[in-house]
Formats: sequence, C-alpha cells, structure tokens
Amino acid sequence: MIERTLVILKPDCMQKNLASTVIERFTQAGLSLVACKMMRLQESLLREHYDFLIDKPFFPSIVSYMMECPVLVLVLRGENAIAVVRGLLGPTDSSTAPKGTIRGDFGQDKSRNIAHASDSQEVAVKEIARFFTTNEVFA
Ligand code: ADP
Repeated sequence: MIERTLVILKPDCMQKNLASTVIERFTQAGLSLVACKMMRLQESLLREHYDFLIDKPFFPSIVSYMMECPVLVLVLRGENAIAVVRGLLGPTDSSTAPKGTIRGDFGQDKSRNIAHASDSQEVAVKEIARFFTTNEVFA
C-alpha cells in the first residue's frame, strides 16, 4: 500500500550534520520526499506530539532536547512507507540498535536517537496534519 509518513530529523541529527545522510537512506530505499520544513519546535507543539509520554519522568528532558536547535520535518511517500522508515531507523534505544540501522549507526541512546517516525497509518495522518497544511505536501 502506498503510504505517507512523518519524519523529524531530531537535534542530534542536525548537530552531527547528518540530515542529508539520513534522507539518503530513505530515498535509497525507494521512498520519495514529498514535503520538507525546517522548524524550531515550540513546547506546546511538543506536548501535543509526545502527549502519550507526558507522565513519564523523562518528559521534560525530551522537551529540552527537542528544542536544542531547529529540526527538519519531512513527509516521505512510498510503498509501506511507515514500516520501511521504522525498519531503517531501528529500535528506540540507539545503544542497542543493530549496526546498519540509522539509530544503530548514528544515535547515542534512548533519547538522542536521530529521528522520529510515525508508527501507524492513523498516527501518520495526524502527525502530517500537525506539521503541514495540505498544500505543503506535494504528492
Ligand atoms: P520511537 O521514537 O522509537 O517511536 P517512543 O514512541 O517510545 O519511541 O518514544 C518517543 C521518544 O521519546 C523517543 O524517540 C525518545 O526520543 C524519547 N524516549 C523514549 N523513551 C525514553 C527514555 N526511557 N528516556 C529518554 N527518552 C526517551
């Protein structure tokens, strides 16, 4: 099934100058970049985006980390895009993510893990609408 998924290249990705390297992993896997925006994330938007983590003790550290510097927000489109992107990223904890995955190759730990990606169709639709208007998504 052709899907769209939302990806955020997080502050550690931007600070390590890895944006183009990570985007290339996605495009080499056959996905197309159909929207792209550089943003300084605000706390209100992060509280909405990570609402399922608000009660966790590490929530304040997620917010401060995600506000360290501007991030790149992308929409990728292609066959099974949601699962393909999550597979390329690897598991949340970069310290145990396999080599060859984006997090395993470039991430640091459970928090500084290079990129966010939508984890279901329903979430992808909500997340794309959170960051982009319909006329900013080009396919
Ligand atoms: P994923 O990003 O793999 O979908 P989750 O949805 O579980 O993972 O968590 C969202 C984000 O919250 C993670 O990518 C990470 O940045 C942060 N996070 C999750 N668990 C922890 C933790 N135990 N300590 C610090 N940050 C965490």
